[in-house]
Amino acid sequence: MNRSLLIKPSMKEEYPTVTHGEGIYLYDKDGKRYIDGSSGAVTTSIGHGVSEIIEAMHEQANKVSFVYRSQFTSEPAEKLAVKLNELLNADEDYWSFFVNSGSEATETAMKIAIQHWQEQGYFKKNKILSRWVSYHGITLGALSMSGHVGRRERFVSILEDYPAVSAPYCYQCSLKKTYPSCQLACANEIETAIKRIGPGQIAAFIAEPIIGAAGGVIIPPDGYYQQVKEICNKYNILFIADEVMTGIGRTGEMFGLHHWGIQADIIALGKGMSAGYTAIAATLASEKVMKPILQGSNSVMSGHTYSANPQSAATALAVLQYIEKYQLVQNVKVQGEYLLQKLLFELGESKIIGDIRGIGLMIGVEFVSDKSTKRPFDKKLMITNKIVGKAREKGLLVYPSSAGQEGAHGDAIIISPPFIITKSQMDELVSILKEVVLEIQKEVG
Ligand code: PLP
Repeated sequence: MNRSLLIKPSMKEEYPTVTHGEGIYLYDKDGKRYIDGSSGAVTTSIGHGVSEIIEAMHEQANKVSFVYRSQFTSEPAEKLAVKLNELLNADEDYWSFFVNSGSEATETAMKIAIQHWQEQGYFKKNKILSRWVSYHGITLGALSMSGHVGRRERFVSILEDYPAVSAPYCYQCSLKKTYPSCQLACANEIETAIKRIGPGQIAAFIAEPIIGAAGGVIIPPDGYYQQVKEICNKYNILFIADEVMTGIGRTGEMFGLHHWGIQADIIALGKGMSAGYTAIAATLASEKVMKPILQGSNSVMSGHTYSANPQSAATALAVLQYIEKYQLVQNVKVQGEYLLQKLLFELGESKIIGDIRGIGLMIGVEFVSDKSTKRPFDKKLMITNKIVGKAREKGLLVYPSSAGQEGAHGDAIIISPPFIITKSQMDELVSILKEVVLEIQKEVG
Protein backbone atom coordinates (compact mmCIF):
# COMPACT_ATOMS: atom_id res chain seq x y z
CA MET A 1 0.00 0.00 0.00
CA ASN A 2 1.10 3.59 -0.60
CA ARG A 3 2.08 5.69 2.39
CA SER A 4 -0.99 6.55 4.47
CA LEU A 5 -2.14 10.15 4.08
CA LEU A 6 -4.47 10.00 7.06
CA ILE A 7 -4.08 12.88 9.53
CA LYS A 8 -3.66 11.41 13.00
CA PRO A 9 -3.63 12.96 16.49
CA SER A 10 0.14 12.60 16.57
CA MET A 11 1.84 12.34 13.22
CA LYS A 12 5.01 11.07 14.92
CA GLU A 13 3.33 8.00 16.34
CA GLU A 14 2.38 4.80 14.58
CA TYR A 15 -1.12 3.61 15.41
CA PRO A 16 -2.35 0.09 14.75
CA THR A 17 -5.12 -0.33 12.19
CA VAL A 18 -8.20 -1.82 13.79
CA THR A 19 -10.12 -4.57 12.02
CA HIS A 20 -12.91 -5.48 14.43
CA GLY A 21 -14.13 -5.50 18.00
CA GLU A 22 -15.91 -7.96 20.21
CA GLY A 23 -17.04 -7.33 23.78
CA ILE A 24 -14.22 -5.57 25.64
CA TYR A 25 -11.65 -6.48 22.97
CA LEU A 26 -10.37 -4.80 19.80
CA TYR A 27 -8.21 -6.49 17.16
CA ASP A 28 -5.73 -4.98 14.71
CA LYS A 29 -4.80 -6.10 11.22
CA ASP A 30 -1.93 -8.23 12.56
CA GLY A 31 -4.41 -10.13 14.67
CA LYS A 32 -3.20 -8.57 17.93
CA ARG A 33 -5.83 -8.32 20.68
CA TYR A 34 -6.28 -5.27 22.92
CA ILE A 35 -8.37 -4.85 26.07
CA ASP A 36 -10.41 -1.68 25.54
CA GLY A 37 -9.57 -0.54 29.06
CA SER A 38 -10.83 2.99 28.48
CA SER A 39 -13.83 2.26 26.21
CA GLY A 40 -11.94 4.34 23.64
CA ALA A 41 -12.42 7.86 24.92
CA VAL A 42 -14.77 6.69 27.72
CA THR A 43 -17.35 5.91 25.05
CA THR A 44 -17.93 2.25 24.15
CA SER A 45 -19.79 1.50 27.36
CA ILE A 46 -21.65 -1.62 26.23
CA GLY A 47 -18.68 -3.16 24.42
CA HIS A 48 -18.09 -3.87 20.75
CA GLY A 49 -20.14 -5.85 18.24
CA VAL A 50 -23.37 -6.09 20.22
CA SER A 51 -25.79 -7.85 17.85
CA GLU A 52 -28.95 -6.24 19.30
CA ILE A 53 -27.62 -2.80 18.43
CA ILE A 54 -26.44 -3.86 14.99
CA GLU A 55 -29.91 -5.30 14.28
CA ALA A 56 -31.59 -2.07 15.40
CA MET A 57 -29.25 -0.08 13.13
CA HIS A 58 -30.07 -2.38 10.24
CA GLU A 59 -33.79 -2.13 10.86
CA GLN A 60 -33.71 1.67 10.85
CA ALA A 61 -31.49 1.78 7.74
CA ASN A 62 -34.13 -0.27 5.98
CA LYS A 63 -36.76 2.36 6.83
CA VAL A 64 -35.05 5.75 6.51
CA SER A 65 -31.59 6.93 7.57
CA PHE A 66 -31.82 10.66 7.13
CA VAL A 67 -34.39 13.41 7.20
CA TYR A 68 -33.66 17.07 7.70
CA ARG A 69 -34.75 18.30 11.11
CA SER A 70 -36.67 21.32 9.82
CA GLN A 71 -38.64 19.17 7.38
CA PHE A 72 -39.43 16.12 9.51
CA THR A 73 -39.16 14.75 12.98
CA SER A 74 -38.95 10.98 13.35
CA GLU A 75 -40.21 8.30 15.67
CA PRO A 76 -36.73 7.28 16.91
CA ALA A 77 -35.79 10.91 17.69
CA GLU A 78 -39.08 11.49 19.54
CA LYS A 79 -38.73 8.24 21.48
CA LEU A 80 -35.11 9.04 22.32
CA ALA A 81 -36.10 12.41 23.78
CA VAL A 82 -38.81 10.74 25.89
CA LYS A 83 -36.37 8.04 27.05
CA LEU A 84 -33.72 10.58 28.11
CA ASN A 85 -36.31 12.55 30.05
CA GLU A 86 -37.45 9.33 31.73
CA LEU A 87 -33.88 8.34 32.65
CA LEU A 88 -33.24 11.78 34.09
CA ASN A 89 -36.17 11.28 36.43
CA ALA A 90 -36.28 14.93 37.45
CA ASP A 91 -39.15 16.89 38.97
CA GLU A 92 -39.80 18.68 35.68
CA ASP A 93 -39.58 17.62 32.04
CA TYR A 94 -36.44 18.14 29.99
CA TRP A 95 -36.44 18.86 26.28
CA SER A 96 -33.78 17.25 24.09
CA PHE A 97 -31.83 18.94 21.34
CA PHE A 98 -29.75 16.47 19.33
CA VAL A 99 -26.30 17.18 17.95
CA ASN A 100 -23.35 15.05 16.86
CA SER A 101 -20.60 15.48 19.42
CA GLY A 102 -20.01 16.42 23.03
CA SER A 103 -18.46 19.73 21.95
CA GLU A 104 -21.63 20.62 20.06
CA ALA A 105 -23.70 19.59 23.07
CA THR A 106 -21.87 21.90 25.48
CA GLU A 107 -21.81 24.70 22.93
CA THR A 108 -25.56 24.29 22.41
CA ALA A 109 -25.99 24.33 26.21
CA MET A 110 -24.13 27.63 26.27
CA LYS A 111 -26.36 29.07 23.52
CA ILE A 112 -29.59 27.87 25.16
CA ALA A 113 -28.48 29.48 28.44
CA ILE A 114 -27.73 32.79 26.73
CA GLN A 115 -30.95 32.63 24.75
CA HIS A 116 -32.95 31.87 27.91
CA TRP A 117 -31.93 35.27 29.31
CA GLN A 118 -32.08 37.15 26.01
CA GLU A 119 -35.70 36.11 25.46
CA GLN A 120 -36.48 37.79 28.79
CA GLY A 121 -34.67 40.99 27.85
CA TYR A 122 -31.40 40.32 29.69
CA PHE A 123 -29.05 40.95 26.79
CA LYS A 124 -25.89 41.31 28.86
CA LYS A 125 -26.22 37.94 30.61
CA ASN A 126 -23.99 36.14 28.13
CA LYS A 127 -20.84 34.96 29.88
CA ILE A 128 -20.35 31.38 31.04
CA LEU A 129 -18.50 30.87 34.28
CA SER A 130 -16.35 27.77 34.36
CA ARG A 131 -13.52 26.08 36.22
CA TRP A 132 -9.87 25.41 35.65
CA VAL A 133 -8.99 21.72 35.22
CA SER A 134 -12.01 21.08 33.01
CA TYR A 135 -12.77 20.02 29.47
CA HIS A 136 -15.97 20.84 27.62
CA GLY A 137 -14.93 20.30 24.03
CA ILE A 138 -12.65 21.29 21.20
CA THR A 139 -14.75 23.79 19.18
CA LEU A 140 -14.03 27.43 20.00
CA GLY A 141 -17.10 28.06 22.16
CA ALA A 142 -16.62 24.82 24.07
CA LEU A 143 -12.89 25.44 24.39
CA SER A 144 -13.59 28.93 25.71
CA MET A 145 -15.41 27.29 28.63
CA SER A 146 -12.66 24.69 29.13
CA GLY A 147 -9.92 25.02 31.70
CA HIS A 148 -7.58 22.67 29.86
CA VAL A 149 -4.42 24.66 29.30
CA GLY A 150 -2.83 22.17 26.89
CA ARG A 151 -5.80 22.25 24.54
CA ARG A 152 -6.32 26.02 24.80
CA GLU A 153 -2.84 27.44 24.54
CA ARG A 154 -2.56 27.70 20.73
CA PHE A 155 -5.91 29.45 20.46
CA VAL A 156 -6.08 31.60 23.61
CA SER A 157 -6.05 34.85 21.62
CA ILE A 158 -9.32 33.95 19.87
CA LEU A 159 -11.11 32.42 22.87
CA GLU A 160 -13.55 34.11 25.21
CA ASP A 161 -12.01 34.68 28.61
CA TYR A 162 -14.21 32.25 30.59
CA PRO A 163 -12.61 29.87 33.15
CA ALA A 164 -12.49 31.68 36.41
CA VAL A 165 -12.62 29.41 39.44
CA SER A 166 -10.63 26.59 41.01
CA ALA A 167 -11.61 22.97 40.56
CA PRO A 168 -12.69 20.89 43.60
CA TYR A 169 -9.40 19.01 43.38
CA CYS A 170 -8.71 17.85 46.93
CA TYR A 171 -5.61 15.80 46.09
CA GLN A 172 -3.82 18.92 44.84
CA CYS A 173 -5.87 21.82 46.11
CA SER A 174 -4.84 25.02 44.34
CA LEU A 175 -6.07 26.97 47.37
CA LYS A 176 -3.70 24.92 49.58
CA LYS A 177 -6.54 23.92 51.87
CA THR A 178 -7.78 20.61 53.22
CA TYR A 179 -11.33 19.28 53.22
CA PRO A 180 -13.45 19.66 55.37
CA SER A 181 -11.68 22.49 57.20
CA CYS A 182 -11.59 24.40 53.88
CA GLN A 183 -15.36 24.85 54.23
CA LEU A 184 -15.58 24.32 50.45
CA ALA A 185 -13.53 27.38 49.60
CA CYS A 186 -13.46 26.27 45.94
CA ALA A 187 -17.25 26.42 45.77
CA ASN A 188 -17.27 29.78 47.53
CA GLU A 189 -14.85 31.09 44.89
CA ILE A 190 -17.78 30.90 42.50
CA GLU A 191 -19.63 33.48 44.54
CA THR A 192 -16.56 35.74 44.60
CA ALA A 193 -16.21 35.40 40.81
CA ILE A 194 -19.91 36.17 40.30
CA LYS A 195 -19.61 39.31 42.42
CA ARG A 196 -16.45 40.37 40.55
CA ILE A 197 -17.86 39.83 37.06
CA GLY A 198 -21.39 40.82 37.98
CA PRO A 199 -24.40 38.46 38.02
CA GLY A 200 -25.99 40.59 35.31
CA GLN A 201 -23.25 39.43 32.92
CA ILE A 202 -23.32 35.70 33.64
CA ALA A 203 -25.75 33.35 31.94
CA ALA A 204 -24.57 30.07 33.44
CA PHE A 205 -21.98 28.13 35.37
CA ILE A 206 -20.75 24.94 33.70
CA ALA A 207 -19.15 21.93 35.37
CA GLU A 208 -18.40 18.29 34.69
CA PRO A 209 -19.93 16.50 37.71
CA ILE A 210 -16.73 14.43 37.87
CA ILE A 211 -13.81 15.91 35.98
CA GLY A 212 -12.45 13.61 33.27
CA ALA A 213 -9.98 14.46 30.53
CA ALA A 214 -8.43 17.50 32.19
CA GLY A 215 -7.83 15.99 35.59
CA GLY A 216 -7.84 12.21 35.50
CA VAL A 217 -11.14 11.70 37.38
CA ILE A 218 -11.67 14.32 40.05
CA ILE A 219 -14.56 13.67 42.41
CA PRO A 220 -15.70 16.75 44.36
CA PRO A 221 -16.15 16.45 48.12
CA ASP A 222 -19.61 16.06 49.59
CA GLY A 223 -21.50 19.30 49.86
CA TYR A 224 -19.72 20.89 46.89
CA TYR A 225 -22.60 20.68 44.41
CA GLN A 226 -25.19 21.64 47.01
CA GLN A 227 -23.16 24.80 47.60
CA VAL A 228 -22.72 25.44 43.86
CA LYS A 229 -26.44 25.06 43.24
CA GLU A 230 -27.31 27.44 46.09
CA ILE A 231 -24.91 30.07 44.76
CA CYS A 232 -26.30 29.72 41.22
CA ASN A 233 -29.87 30.05 42.49
CA LYS A 234 -28.98 33.04 44.66
CA TYR A 235 -27.58 35.01 41.69
CA ASN A 236 -29.98 33.80 38.98
CA ILE A 237 -27.35 31.85 37.11
CA LEU A 238 -28.21 28.63 35.29
CA PHE A 239 -26.28 25.49 36.14
CA ILE A 240 -25.05 23.46 33.13
CA ALA A 241 -23.90 19.91 33.91
CA ASP A 242 -21.50 18.60 31.29
CA GLU A 243 -22.35 14.90 31.56
CA VAL A 244 -20.71 14.03 28.25
CA MET A 245 -18.32 11.67 30.03
CA THR A 246 -20.22 10.91 33.23
CA GLY A 247 -23.71 10.48 31.75
CA ILE A 248 -25.55 7.24 30.97
CA GLY A 249 -24.25 5.05 33.73
CA ARG A 250 -20.49 5.50 33.61
CA THR A 251 -20.20 6.37 37.30
CA GLY A 252 -22.68 3.82 38.63
CA GLU A 253 -25.63 6.22 38.49
CA MET A 254 -27.47 7.07 35.28
CA PHE A 255 -26.21 10.68 35.59
CA GLY A 256 -23.15 11.90 37.51
CA LEU A 257 -25.10 14.53 39.44
CA HIS A 258 -27.48 11.84 40.76
CA HIS A 259 -24.71 10.93 43.25
CA TRP A 260 -25.46 14.20 45.02
CA GLY A 261 -29.18 14.46 44.29
CA ILE A 262 -28.64 17.67 42.34
CA GLN A 263 -30.65 18.76 39.32
CA ALA A 264 -28.94 20.88 36.65
CA ASP A 265 -30.87 23.31 34.45
CA ILE A 266 -29.16 22.19 31.25
CA ILE A 267 -27.31 18.91 30.64
CA ALA A 268 -24.87 17.98 27.89
CA LEU A 269 -24.63 14.33 26.88
CA GLY A 270 -22.48 12.46 24.34
CA LYS A 271 -20.07 9.54 24.35
CA GLY A 272 -21.91 6.74 26.24
CA MET A 273 -25.28 7.90 24.92
CA SER A 274 -24.64 5.85 21.79
CA ALA A 275 -21.73 3.84 23.22
CA GLY A 276 -19.75 4.59 20.05
CA TYR A 277 -22.25 2.92 17.69
CA THR A 278 -22.94 6.27 16.04
CA ALA A 279 -22.08 9.94 16.39
CA ILE A 280 -24.85 11.51 18.43
CA ALA A 281 -24.98 13.81 21.45
CA ALA A 282 -27.68 15.85 23.13
CA THR A 283 -28.40 18.96 25.10
CA LEU A 284 -31.22 18.58 27.59
CA ALA A 285 -32.92 21.73 28.85
CA SER A 286 -35.49 21.91 31.62
CA GLU A 287 -39.04 23.18 31.15
CA LYS A 288 -38.03 26.22 33.24
CA VAL A 289 -35.13 27.01 30.89
CA MET A 290 -37.24 26.43 27.77
CA LYS A 291 -40.29 28.42 28.84
CA PRO A 292 -39.07 31.90 27.83
CA ILE A 293 -37.72 30.48 24.56
CA LEU A 294 -41.00 28.70 23.76
CA GLN A 295 -42.98 31.80 24.63
CA GLY A 296 -40.56 34.05 22.76
CA SER A 297 -38.87 33.17 19.48
CA ASN A 298 -39.97 29.53 19.84
CA SER A 299 -36.74 28.40 18.24
CA VAL A 300 -33.33 27.36 19.57
CA MET A 301 -30.70 29.10 17.49
CA SER A 302 -28.45 26.12 16.96
CA GLY A 303 -28.49 22.94 14.89
CA HIS A 304 -26.57 20.91 12.37
CA THR A 305 -27.44 19.06 9.19
CA TYR A 306 -27.23 15.72 10.98
CA SER A 307 -29.05 16.83 14.17
CA ALA A 308 -31.67 14.28 15.22
CA ASN A 309 -31.20 12.08 12.14
CA PRO A 310 -33.32 8.93 12.56
CA GLN A 311 -30.41 6.55 11.97
CA SER A 312 -28.40 7.90 14.90
CA ALA A 313 -31.47 8.36 17.08
CA ALA A 314 -32.56 4.73 16.58
CA THR A 315 -29.04 3.56 17.40
CA ALA A 316 -28.82 5.59 20.60
CA LEU A 317 -32.30 4.47 21.63
CA ALA A 318 -31.28 0.84 21.17
CA VAL A 319 -28.19 1.45 23.33
CA LEU A 320 -30.24 2.99 26.14
CA GLN A 321 -32.76 0.14 26.00
CA TYR A 322 -29.90 -2.37 26.10
CA ILE A 323 -28.36 -0.71 29.17
CA GLU A 324 -31.73 -0.85 30.93
CA LYS A 325 -32.60 -4.38 29.83
CA TYR A 326 -29.35 -5.87 31.15
CA GLN A 327 -29.21 -3.56 34.20
CA LEU A 328 -25.71 -2.51 33.23
CA VAL A 329 -25.60 0.51 35.51
CA GLN A 330 -25.94 -1.81 38.47
CA ASN A 331 -23.04 -3.81 37.05
CA VAL A 332 -20.95 -0.64 36.84
CA LYS A 333 -21.38 -0.13 40.58
CA VAL A 334 -20.31 -3.66 41.45
CA GLN A 335 -17.48 -4.01 38.93
CA GLY A 336 -16.27 -0.47 39.56
CA GLU A 337 -15.83 -1.12 43.26
CA TYR A 338 -13.90 -4.33 42.54
CA LEU A 339 -11.65 -2.65 39.96
CA LEU A 340 -10.86 0.29 42.22
CA GLN A 341 -9.98 -1.98 45.15
CA LYS A 342 -7.88 -4.23 42.91
CA LEU A 343 -5.96 -1.25 41.50
CA LEU A 344 -5.38 0.14 45.00
CA PHE A 345 -4.16 -3.26 46.21
CA GLU A 346 -1.86 -3.99 43.27
CA LEU A 347 -0.61 -0.50 42.46
CA GLY A 348 -1.30 1.65 45.52
CA GLU A 349 2.27 1.26 46.82
CA SER A 350 3.96 2.16 43.54
CA LYS A 351 6.58 4.89 43.92
CA ILE A 352 5.30 6.76 40.88
CA ILE A 353 1.58 6.66 41.68
CA GLY A 354 0.28 9.45 43.90
CA ASP A 355 -3.42 8.79 43.81
CA ILE A 356 -5.91 6.21 42.58
CA ARG A 357 -9.51 7.43 42.70
CA GLY A 358 -12.74 6.51 41.05
CA ILE A 359 -16.45 6.19 41.02
CA GLY A 360 -18.20 3.40 39.12
CA LEU A 361 -16.14 2.45 36.08
CA MET A 362 -14.45 5.85 35.82
CA ILE A 363 -11.11 5.51 37.57
CA GLY A 364 -8.12 7.84 37.50
CA VAL A 365 -4.51 7.04 38.29
CA GLU A 366 -2.29 10.07 38.92
CA PHE A 367 1.48 9.80 38.57
CA VAL A 368 3.87 11.86 40.68
CA SER A 369 7.65 11.97 40.98
CA ASP A 370 7.46 12.42 44.75
CA LYS A 371 4.61 10.90 46.70
CA SER A 372 5.13 13.00 49.82
CA THR A 373 5.16 16.38 48.07
CA LYS A 374 2.89 15.21 45.20
CA ARG A 375 5.35 16.87 42.81
CA PRO A 376 4.49 15.98 39.22
CA PHE A 377 7.04 14.55 36.82
CA ASP A 378 9.00 16.85 34.55
CA LYS A 379 6.75 17.47 31.53
CA LYS A 380 9.59 16.48 29.18
CA LEU A 381 9.52 12.92 30.56
CA MET A 382 5.99 12.53 29.13
CA ILE A 383 5.07 9.87 31.67
CA THR A 384 1.45 9.59 30.52
CA ASN A 385 2.54 8.94 26.94
CA LYS A 386 5.02 6.34 28.16
CA ILE A 387 2.37 4.54 30.19
CA VAL A 388 -0.23 4.66 27.42
CA GLY A 389 2.29 3.54 24.77
CA LYS A 390 3.71 0.65 26.78
CA ALA A 391 0.23 -0.50 27.78
CA ARG A 392 -0.81 -0.53 24.12
CA GLU A 393 2.30 -2.57 23.26
CA LYS A 394 1.13 -5.10 25.86
CA GLY A 395 -2.44 -5.14 24.56
CA LEU A 396 -4.14 -2.74 26.95
CA LEU A 397 -5.73 0.58 26.00
CA VAL A 398 -5.94 3.33 28.63
CA TYR A 399 -6.93 6.97 28.18
CA PRO A 400 -4.32 9.72 28.63
CA SER A 401 -5.43 12.61 30.77
CA SER A 402 -3.64 15.56 32.24
CA ALA A 403 -3.75 16.30 35.92
CA GLY A 404 -2.42 19.01 38.15
CA GLN A 405 -3.11 22.67 38.55
CA GLU A 406 -4.86 24.28 35.61
CA GLY A 407 -4.50 21.06 33.66
CA ALA A 408 -1.15 22.24 32.35
CA HIS A 409 1.15 19.69 33.84
CA GLY A 410 0.88 16.47 35.75
CA ASP A 411 0.19 13.02 34.47
CA ALA A 412 -2.81 10.77 34.80
CA ILE A 413 -4.62 8.03 32.97
CA ILE A 414 -8.28 7.07 32.98
CA ILE A 415 -9.34 3.46 33.25
CA SER A 416 -12.94 3.10 32.13
CA PRO A 417 -13.67 -0.28 30.53
CA PRO A 418 -17.04 -1.26 29.06
CA PHE A 419 -19.80 -1.95 31.63
CA ILE A 420 -19.83 -5.64 30.67
CA ILE A 421 -16.30 -6.35 31.87
CA THR A 422 -15.99 -9.45 34.04
CA LYS A 423 -13.93 -10.03 37.17
CA SER A 424 -11.32 -12.13 35.39
CA GLN A 425 -11.02 -9.56 32.61
CA MET A 426 -10.45 -6.86 35.25
CA ASP A 427 -7.76 -9.05 36.84
CA GLU A 428 -6.04 -9.29 33.46
CA LEU A 429 -6.34 -5.53 32.91
CA VAL A 430 -4.75 -4.76 36.29
CA SER A 431 -2.02 -7.32 35.82
CA ILE A 432 -0.96 -5.77 32.47
CA LEU A 433 -1.10 -2.28 33.95
CA LYS A 434 1.03 -3.40 36.89
CA GLU A 435 3.71 -4.72 34.51
CA VAL A 436 3.64 -1.41 32.65
CA VAL A 437 3.94 0.67 35.82
CA LEU A 438 6.81 -1.45 37.15
CA GLU A 439 8.73 -1.10 33.88
CA ILE A 440 8.21 2.67 33.66
CA GLN A 441 9.06 3.01 37.36
CA LYS A 442 12.42 1.30 36.68
CA GLU A 443 13.02 3.58 33.70
CA VAL A 444 12.40 6.84 35.55
CA GLY A 445 13.19 5.87 39.15
N1 PLP B 1 -17.30 17.33 27.58
C1 PLP B 1 -16.61 16.40 28.23
C2 PLP B 1 -16.80 16.25 29.70
C3 PLP B 1 -15.74 15.55 27.55
O1 PLP B 1 -15.06 14.62 28.23
C4 PLP B 1 -15.61 15.70 26.15
C5 PLP B 1 -14.68 14.83 25.41
O2 PLP B 1 -13.80 14.22 25.93
C6 PLP B 1 -16.36 16.67 25.51
C7 PLP B 1 -17.20 17.48 26.24
C8 PLP B 1 -16.26 16.86 24.02
O3 PLP B 1 -16.87 15.79 23.38
P1 PLP B 1 -16.53 15.43 21.86
O4 PLP B 1 -15.11 14.96 21.85
O5 PLP B 1 -17.51 14.37 21.51
O6 PLP B 1 -16.71 16.68 21.08
